[in-house]
Amino acid sequence: MMRVHSREVGNAVYRKLAERGVELEAIADIVYDMQLPYHPNLKMETCMESVRAVLSKRELQHAILVGIELDVLAEQNVISEPLLSILRDDEGLFGCDETLALGSVFGYGSIAVTTFGFLDKQKIGIIRKLDNKAFGKVNTFLDDLVAAIASSASSRIAHRQRDMDEKVMELALEAGSGEVHPPEETEVVALDPLLREAGENAAS
Ligand code: MG
Repeated sequence: MMRVHSREVGNAVYRKLAERGVELEAIADIVYDMQLPYHPNLKMETCMESVRAVLSKRELQHAILVGIELDVLAEQNVISEPLLSILRDDEGLFGCDETLALGSVFGYGSIAVTTFGFLDKQKIGIIRKLDNKAFGKVNTFLDDLVAAIASSASSRIAHRQRDMDEKVMELALEAGSGEVHPPEETEVVALDPLLREAGENAAS
């Protein structure tokens, strides 16, 4: 069997999300809301960059492909009973949709996990739209997968911001300014080269 190239998997993820009506901007909007309280200078561009970065991770890609496939098959009625009815009704006690999505955020640590839990309950933005399913549509897995992408991207920003703040402090020390003030909130994209130099402690 020929092994599927990662590029093909990555492209499929973007394609499937688009086919299911999920725009990356809508996920970035959630990331922005989640992280703005901690980074007042946060820019949407940073959130979009973080969404794209987490979508390059295999663990998340595979969960997205599995979940969307099951949603689509349920929509087409080609899954056997009783699973078909469970998926079509988005049965609250099913839990495999949340478990699959939650498992895919572990690589981004506890902030990703707690943010996922919050989004699972609060269902903000596009997550709520997906949850209020239109007639005939099945998004049982998709709403949780979007929460997984958004929470991973949020956690990634939180960790990178800390790395960058520390790098700014170090540079100030090296410059021998004598006094070191905690840095103002700096913006992730603008200082990205510094961050790379810092050795990327962040979950990237
Ligand atoms: Mg669900």
